[in-house]
Amino acid sequence: MQLSNNAKIGAAVGCLLVAGVILYFTTFNDMVGSGGSEKMVMLCTNPKCEKAFKIPYEEYAKIWQLQGGNPMTMMSPKPIKCKFCNQITALTATECPKCKNVFIEPMEQRSIEYPDRCPECKFSQMEEDDKNSK
Ligand SMILES: [Zn+2]
Ligand SMILES: [Zn+2]
Repeated sequence: MQLSNNAKIGAAVGCLLVAGVILYFTTFNDMVGSGGSEKMVMLCTNPKCEKAFKIPYEEYAKIWQLQGGNPMTMMSPKPIKCKFCNQITALTATECPKCKNVFIEPMEQRSIEYPDRCPECKFSQMEEDDKNSK
């Protein structure tokens, strides 16, 4: 009896997680302005590859959902398969609008700095937006 109850709870939690993921992507899609042509910038973290590429947002969401479901990795960046080396090492990245350098935003700096600051030319779109709104 104990077991079947746990299984029921597990299924319920699973359903909630799936709903949460769908909700997350729906809101995220609204945030970036839905249009279908939105591209995600990916950067391969494989030291032998380190290539950057772009995939349509829908494709990223699909891969994420296929690979997703593990609550342990929900909060951390989820790597997807790199188009060049076929390893699961590509992370979502940011392309600098100024020098086109592609980099991964440092998670730990999110609260104190502009996470989109380019490590090459130090340009940050968020900082610019901040300045302009003042
Ligand atoms: Zn690669
Ligand atoms: Zn830059």
